[in-house]
Amino acid sequence: MINIVLFGKPGAGKGTQAEFLKTQYGLIHISTGDVFRYNIKNETELGKLAQSYMDQGDLVPDSVTINMLKAEVEKNSEAKGFIFDGFPRTTAQAEALDAFLDKKNMQVTATIALEATDDELVERLLKRGETSGRSDDQDESKIRNRFDEYNHKTSPLRSFYTDQDKFHSVNGIGSIDEITERLTAIIDRF
Ligand code: AMP
Repeated sequence: MINIVLFGKPGAGKGTQAEFLKTQYGLIHISTGDVFRYNIKNETELGKLAQSYMDQGDLVPDSVTINMLKAEVEKNSEAKGFIFDGFPRTTAQAEALDAFLDKKNMQVTATIALEATDDELVERLLKRGETSGRSDDQDESKIRNRFDEYNHKTSPLRSFYTDQDKFHSVNGIGSIDEITERLTAIIDRF
């Protein structure tokens, strides 16, 4: 079983790459952002709770996010493995993920960060916002707030996974195919 955590700032290409990797390795792709957006669209309680945070580009509280992630994993008990896209984003989430997987005799195989500069990412997100309809992609101050959240709360996970010898990073600038190749070169080692 392989369980990959895709790591990187908003716009780094996690969702795009996860789509290719899930097919290539037969994995279940869980994007916490997508699950929140689905719940917002369907006006569920979870969606109502998450919306105000997401609209501002703030992280949704850990307890809500962790419970949601666990439920998504439980829904796929027959899976060959998972790609976690956008989770974990805080140390509390990473610790909860380790404990949860451990109970199932599973573990994170590797964490791979897609690296790109803030200026490149802002440009990509504003462009995506023209078609995605996502309000958090359309406003540069919200985008910068998402980067701040990442720098403060998510960056510490680099050392969290480095300490476990599970942190890898690839250059996230290039064609989609080139970046997929960089990722598969790492995943194929496991
Ligand atoms: P994304 O689609 O990954 O860019 O996520 C969009 C938004 O969903 C983020 O800005 C957060 O508000 C929320 N979100 C997604 N994943 C998480 C997470 N792991 N922890 C907290 N909030 C999250």
